[in-house]
Amino acid sequence: MSAFFKISLQYLFYPLCMMFTVWIVMLVVSGQIPYWPSSIILILLSGLLIALVEYYLPYQPKWLDTHQDFLTDIVHAVFNLFLIVSVAKMIEWLDLFRFIPRLWPDQISVFWQIIIVALIIDFGLWFMHYMSHKYRFLWKLHAIHHHSRRLYWLNAEKRHPLSAIVLAGPSLTVLALFGAPSLLIGCWLMFMAVHLFFQHANVDYRVGPLKYIFAVAEVHRSHHQHGLGRKNFGEVFIFWDIIFGSFFYEDKKVKHDQVGVRIQIPNQYLAQLRWPFKK
Ligand SMILES: [Zn+2]
Repeated sequence: MSAFFKISLQYLFYPLCMMFTVWIVMLVVSGQIPYWPSSIILILLSGLLIALVEYYLPYQPKWLDTHQDFLTDIVHAVFNLFLIVSVAKMIEWLDLFRFIPRLWPDQISVFWQIIIVALIIDFGLWFMHYMSHKYRFLWKLHAIHHHSRRLYWLNAEKRHPLSAIVLAGPSLTVLALFGAPSLLIGCWLMFMAVHLFFQHANVDYRVGPLKYIFAVAEVHRSHHQHGLGRKNFGEVFIFWDIIFGSFFYEDKKVKHDQVGVRIQIPNQYLAQLRWPFKK
């Protein structure tokens, strides 16, 4: 690979893909294309593209090898992605049973409505992620996400279903109670799903100063690093960590054997679902 192509790929891969995702979000919000199946097609294609680029520009070549995790991670991803793209429908159904008035500011522009949805979801995820590292049972649910001894695109959706509910439940409940449009929630989750592939990707991409705004791999890898789990909880935005003092960044490569958990967690999917309930 030529040096020019490599540097271009390093610096343009994330912004170009996320700009493409924003364009798809705009088409969905304006009704030009349907949320379903556009959302799942976009998420799957971005995941597969990142998986491919991992082989051209790996952050850690040793993380390309399967660590007895691949099949289990595929099952996690299928289940969790189905859950993510179903949230919009679930909120739409819940709205049929509304017993309190809607307080959502429909009169403001769609752009600002998406920003409000994004900030509420992202802060809720940041806070519940912080709590998941603080309290023992929540940690046991969340530990599945930290189980792999490598970081690659599929880590993004490696999550115990109950941990998914713990993490996203509070902010989605707030939005549902306020009567936020289900389509805007769905679109933000679609954007987030693409970002999360990048956040965990074994791709040596760079974003420059954007790493102080977005929780990209350059800062998120530290969260999976031994001894640094209580840093960088951000999902899409990292500025929550800067505001609340849990931000960490050093210009030093995370070694291939520095990630994962030291506790023994089984490799099989169903055994992982049962594991948090064992003594
Ligand atoms: Zn974590």
